Amino acid sequence: MSKIKVLDLQFLDTKKAIGSFLIPSEEGLILIESGPESTYKHLQSAIENEGFNVEDVKHVLLTHIHFDHAGAAWKFAEFGAKIYVHPKGYSHMLDPEKLWNSAKMIYGDDMDRLWGKMQPIPENLLIQVDDNDIITIGEHQFKVIYTPGHAVHHNSYRLGDIIFTGDVGGVKIGNHPIVPPCPPPDINLELWKSSLDKLDAENAKVFYLTHFGRQENVLELTQELRIILDDWANWIKPYFDEGISAEEITPKFMAYTKSQFQKKGLSEEEIQIYEYANPSWMSVSGLLRYWKLKKEGRI
Ligand SMILES: [Zn+2]
Repeated sequence: MSKIKVLDLQFLDTKKAIGSFLIPSEEGLILIESGPESTYKHLQSAIENEGFNVEDVKHVLLTHIHFDHAGAAWKFAEFGAKIYVHPKGYSHMLDPEKLWNSAKMIYGDDMDRLWGKMQPIPENLLIQVDDNDIITIGEHQFKVIYTPGHAVHHNSYRLGDIIFTGDVGGVKIGNHPIVPPCPPPDINLELWKSSLDKLDAENAKVFYLTHFGRQENVLELTQELRIILDDWANWIKPYFDEGISAEEITPKFMAYTKSQFQKKGLSEEEIQIYEYANPSWMSVSGLLRYWKLKKEGRI
């Protein structure tokens, strides 16, 4: 198998926060994840540093439609690249206005700095891919593994012994601990853990995490992720039961996760990368919503 290049998108000038993966093929370049449009320039120079041009990218596989994974996909569609997405994310990529407006309610005037712009992707370039589909591109065959729990529109992609795990495989910077990104509105612990069971059953050797990069010992990784996912959710639960607001919980949660990181020997700078890749306030909000839906019997 030809070599997979890990491209660092240098999100907010931070290394190893958001990545994309580049795979050459007989049918042009394949990109897994586009990153947000705000880091497109970095993505472009990373592709050029590998000796290619952005126009050489013919296929973009998106694990899900969160901005940090899919925000710049439309730029590649402008050159005629095909964009692959789960059916539940399809309409938002066709017409991103609703997605954009709901994100703007959260991020306000910071949208441009964080994520950049998003434009519609033409229907003829947007391909829906679901569980067990095989995507054949030149000499490569990708197996689609539907992996909800982090987002309802989340796929992972298997290529040989490798799985590109998007966010469902967690966030892990280098040898540091693995943590679950828990943004609203789709967090579902039960679904997430059954998606991890699905990944385990694949017997893959290597995961490529969008946040960030190549990881081996994948069974240990998923097991640690299950534990920390429960740990964070159970930490939040008493605050939810008492009706305490997300604003009040967030600084306490930040202090809690910071102490977890410090116990594992992380520096202030390393803790900051985790905060960029996986903001605490987002996890508080996502896990509160999970407990609310669960209480209401909606999940
Ligand atoms: Zn995500």
